[in-house]
Amino acid sequence: MNDSFDLLENLRIPSMNLSVECGSCGHQGVVDGPKLWRWFAVHRWNGSIERVGQHLRCSVCKRRPSKLEATQAQPSVEFGPRSEREWQAVVKRLRG
Ligand SMILES: [Zn+2]
Repeated sequence: MNDSFDLLENLRIPSMNLSVECGSCGHQGVVDGPKLWRWFAVHRWNGSIERVGQHLRCSVCKRRPSKLEATQAQPSVEFGPRSEREWQAVVKRLRG
């Protein structure tokens, strides 16, 4: 099931994930929504739908993804910190 959304924050509470599709090579992946929301929050990036793609790249061809959709499918892409400790390290690095 796919849904539209306006903000990454909309994925956080219902624990939805983000389906990302590359218009160039057709590669498709699912990213953990709440984790992506947190990733954007610690970087203080704008989490609105039209801005999210600017921070993502296709893992195959490195181009920007063309299609972002909320999904209940399980994440298929690993990214970012894997533990609370790694999150703290990221925050520390960003805040200098
Ligand atoms: Zn691609």
